[in-house]
Amino acid sequence: DVVVVGSYVQDHIWRLDRFPQPGETRRAAAFHTGPGGKGFNQAVACLRQGVASAFIGALGDDALGAVAQRFAADEQLPCRWQIHAERSTATSGIFVDRDGAPMNVVQLDANEALTPDFVHAQEDLFAGAKLLLLQLENDIAATRAALQAATRHGLLRLMNPAPVRAEFDADLLALCDLITPNETEFAQLLAQIAGVHVEAGSLASCDDAQLHALARRLGALTVVLTLGARGCFVSHADGERRGDTAVCYRLAPERVEAIDATGAGDAFSGALAAAIVRGQGRPFRAAVQHANRVAALSTERAGTAPVMPRYEDVERRFGA
Ligand code: ADP
Repeated sequence: DVVVVGSYVQDHIWRLDRFPQPGETRRAAAFHTGPGGKGFNQAVACLRQGVASAFIGALGDDALGAVAQRFAADEQLPCRWQIHAERSTATSGIFVDRDGAPMNVVQLDANEALTPDFVHAQEDLFAGAKLLLLQLENDIAATRAALQAATRHGLLRLMNPAPVRAEFDADLLALCDLITPNETEFAQLLAQIAGVHVEAGSLASCDDAQLHALARRLGALTVVLTLGARGCFVSHADGERRGDTAVCYRLAPERVEAIDATGAGDAFSGALAAAIVRGQGRPFRAAVQHANRVAALSTERAGTAPVMPRYEDVERRFGA
């Protein structure tokens, strides 16, 4: 039901009391390595909500690529991998300090070599799906190919615009139905697409009407702005009403014992895609609430794809 076209990255995550200064060596309290990458994390998050999902991505012909394929097989996530002999499977180095905020370095490698032709060759997946979920960690031509295929087959197109890159322009944005930026990405998109300059840090002091007005500068699409430990904000196109939900509203954060926010945004976008597909006909707000819950739960455990919450975890914690 959901096709994810995105990145695969082998994460290396160190937890430490505070980040090192340049030239300083610090000892980490814990280390963890495992499968990640925004696209793959989101595919796993979506699948674990009980919704049929498939992933299209790229790997090197190497040991980390084999790790990826083994994890996907164990997870029963159907994948179409473009294997590049001349590239390496992507890696990241992530530091998480006592506040749970990640500092992230990524080498995208094979993901940058995903080709439009390979995406087009997976047309059969698009033909049977309801929703396409995307991020911006692949070559933009492959991203464009995915959006075009989804448009041809009438899929809902959900873009998590992360990380924002210069080639992501108004034309590509116009091919999306729904975007899920965090505050940094929202500020970058406003500058890049609408020429509106706001500090990401100043968004925290904006009221709903101000956020809605800003979101509308990005065009007619629905914007779900994630606000980290402050929950999220939804802005629909003016005049559009969905069931009993208003044009814009905010959802408070769920109360959790957050220790590591790495991958929270991925949990959010993956779970939102799943909830939209699962809940067709139900108010959109219910889907966003589910995503807000899954993302909050994901912060209670260190790591990304391997610790994505399952539908049953959410039910157990918050009720149905
Ligand atoms: P990203 O990981 O992309 O930077 P955010 O930091 O905005 O994204 O977090 C995504 C979502 O994760 C939030 O909208 C919220 O639902 C959830 N979340 C993150 N941190 C917390 C927290 N400390 N408590 C509760 N929910 C959280």
